[in-house]
Amino acid sequence: MAFIRATGKHRRPTRVHRGSANAAGIAGLAAVGVVGSLASPALAATGEKADVHETGLTQAIDMGGSLAQHVSDQAGEQQAAAEQAKAEAAAKKKAAEAKAEAKKRAEEARKKAAEKAKKEREAKERAERAAEAKRAKLNAFVSPIAGSYVSTGYQASSGLWSSGSHTGIDFHAGIGTSVRSVAAGEVVEAGNGGAYGNNVVIKHNDGTYTQYGHLSSIEVSVGQSVTSGQEIALSGNTGNTTGPHLHFEARTGADYGSDIDPVSYLRQHGVNV
Ligand SMILES: [Zn+2]
Repeated sequence: MAFIRATGKHRRPTRVHRGSANAAGIAGLAAVGVVGSLASPALAATGEKADVHETGLTQAIDMGGSLAQHVSDQAGEQQAAAEQAKAEAAAKKKAAEAKAEAKKRAEEARKKAAEKAKKEREAKERAERAAEAKRAKLNAFVSPIAGSYVSTGYQASSGLWSSGSHTGIDFHAGIGTSVRSVAAGEVVEAGNGGAYGNNVVIKHNDGTYTQYGHLSSIEVSVGQSVTSGQEIALSGNTGNTTGPHLHFEARTGADYGSDIDPVSYLRQHGVNV
């Protein structure tokens, strides 16, 4: 369609122009009185006109041909450009999608890493808390008899004791009451302690010692590690005693005579006695 229209467009103005020029030429000749000899020039003109017309047509065809080629080239170029633009747009879209996907993946990876770090942090905190609680429990002190009270104080005077004064304190307790180690440590003595009856001595982590006397039964042995509050024996009435109770001593050494005030000792370690 474009070919036919383009050709017609170019041909028509050419013909009109040539025709007008020829007519003007003929009119000019007539005005100067050479109309008689018009035939041959007219023929010549016609021939010329035909030649021109033909040439014009040829030109038009040629023009049309090259134009068609040009248009075809243009169309081809435009189509190629359009295809290239399309391909570029598709590539851009693909790149944008890939970028978005990469961004999404990076975000997911970041989230995952953050979550993992958070979990690790929380686990570490839990472990620290547990370790702290364990340390606190290990270092905690408790009363040797739960829910009891001191029935005879430290350094109380009586002919009952060889030193003349009480080297520990007595906790009110019937026979068979649970006796606990006041803190973590290691058993350094477990057995008959003479006037103390069945007794247990424990060395604690801070280098102090505690002694438990007049026991009815012993549940630990020398060299054994004990935890704070662990039951080590049952209270009784063995040894030099006027009745069932727990004799409790705090010492700076393992042996008799290195005793310190057990009430102060327990209170220093947070035990309410
Ligand atoms: Zn006592």
